Amino acid sequence: MWMPSIRARLTLWYTGLLTVTLLLLGGVTYGLMVNSLDRDVDNALRKIAQVLSMQARKEAAAIFPTNMDDVFRRFFGFPPPDRYVQMLDPRGQRDPRLPPRSTKTLPFSPQAQANVRRGLPTFETINGVVDDPVRLLTMPVRDNANRLINVVQVGLSLKNSYETRRHFVRILALVFPIALLLAAGGGWLLAHRALAPVDQMTTAAQRIGAERLAERLEETGTGDELDRLATTLNAMLSRLDDAFRQIRQFSADASHELQTPLTILKGELEVALRSSRSPEAYQHILESALEEIDRIAVLVDGLMLLARADAGVLRMDQQPVELHQLIHEVYGQAKVLATTKSVRLSLGTIEPVVIPGDYERLRRLLLNLIDNGIKYTPAGGQVTLALRRCDEGVLVDVTDTGIGLFPTEQDRIFQRFYRTDSARNQGASGSGLGLCIAHSIAHAHGGAIDLESTPGQGSTFTVRLPLTASS
Ligand code: ADP
Repeated sequence: MWMPSIRARLTLWYTGLLTVTLLLLGGVTYGLMVNSLDRDVDNALRKIAQVLSMQARKEAAAIFPTNMDDVFRRFFGFPPPDRYVQMLDPRGQRDPRLPPRSTKTLPFSPQAQANVRRGLPTFETINGVVDDPVRLLTMPVRDNANRLINVVQVGLSLKNSYETRRHFVRILALVFPIALLLAAGGGWLLAHRALAPVDQMTTAAQRIGAERLAERLEETGTGDELDRLATTLNAMLSRLDDAFRQIRQFSADASHELQTPLTILKGELEVALRSSRSPEAYQHILESALEEIDRIAVLVDGLMLLARADAGVLRMDQQPVELHQLIHEVYGQAKVLATTKSVRLSLGTIEPVVIPGDYERLRRLLLNLIDNGIKYTPAGGQVTLALRRCDEGVLVDVTDTGIGLFPTEQDRIFQRFYRTDSARNQGASGSGLGLCIAHSIAHAHGGAIDLESTPGQGSTFTVRLPLTASS
């Protein structure tokens, strides 16, 4: 469906509302004016009729004042050109005392006759006496004994009144279109000015694509709605920019990490194929290839877990997990590794605790931390596991006496693929995903991982987990 621009719609609305307002205002003003004109005419007619009634009661020969114009001037403020007076006797016949000047015969309608009999005045607007309608008042005149002695009729042409009305309508007809044109023009200009920044924003936003996310919309700093919109869009662009950068970095790091074992694997297989070897040599090469494939599988598995966590679809079981049991199990598994590295692995206080969670994922979390503890602790050092309750839930501590971390490193070790220089120099294997995965698992359980570390002295990673299922 075709929709006009906001600018056109605003102008249409504005002009439409103004049209309705002007029509209402014009209508009401016209009505009030007509009412007031009619009332003035009726009041003046009534007063003139009263003067004439008093004259009629005197039973003088000439019942009309000598100068009727003076009477009309007194009550109208001016002597109207088309005025009519008529005096009837009680039978409705023209009174012979009428001055000869009053020539026009005014109608004595049945309605007026009935009212006269009841002693009531009658106001009528009648046509046909002259060109313009005439306002006519018929009033009974009674003597002191309340006998009907005369009927006074005073009429006035409504020519002036109707002319005033027509003039008023002509003025409205002239002023309305001009006012509406001006309003529409003004409305269009206002809408144009108010919406100009939106056009600028649209152009700027069209320019910004995935490759130009560092660009920003212009902020005027006025704090108005459009400025707030620009600020909000800019904040959104910043978040998108960060997200895009992270994804690019992640893809680059992931491909780099995958490339290394794949290159090794390819090299080993190529060398193996170059000449025939003994079965033992083939076995050795295949074992080495399997190791690389395992590394790739672990990496891909980790990447998938993180991708699911990013997408918010990382599902965790909420089965009761005996955490003390789990710690004993991972302790047993890691013991071998610790012995190989001549690091002492020991258990501190282990309180029996059952929490809702995903057994396999929690096992992976703990193994990642213990594996790190052993990896980054020189021979002769110690790694201790402890499990205790606290007010908010349970705390699992993995404490080592290893190389420790500088504060700047502590801020970054949960980022994907981040590895400290000392870890790289030490030649310890790793991809920089372990802590990130551990953090995602803790987070998916409604928990978190805290870290306290002193460079050269060691670190304590504390996993906080809730005792009740996270929704
Ligand atoms: P990696 O596979 O490299 O161990 P992680 O994500 O598990 O990846 O750890 C990220 C980095 O954090 C490690 O490369 C290391 O520099 C640092 N780190 C992790 N655990 C420890 C620890 N217990 N002591 C000192 N440094 C650690």
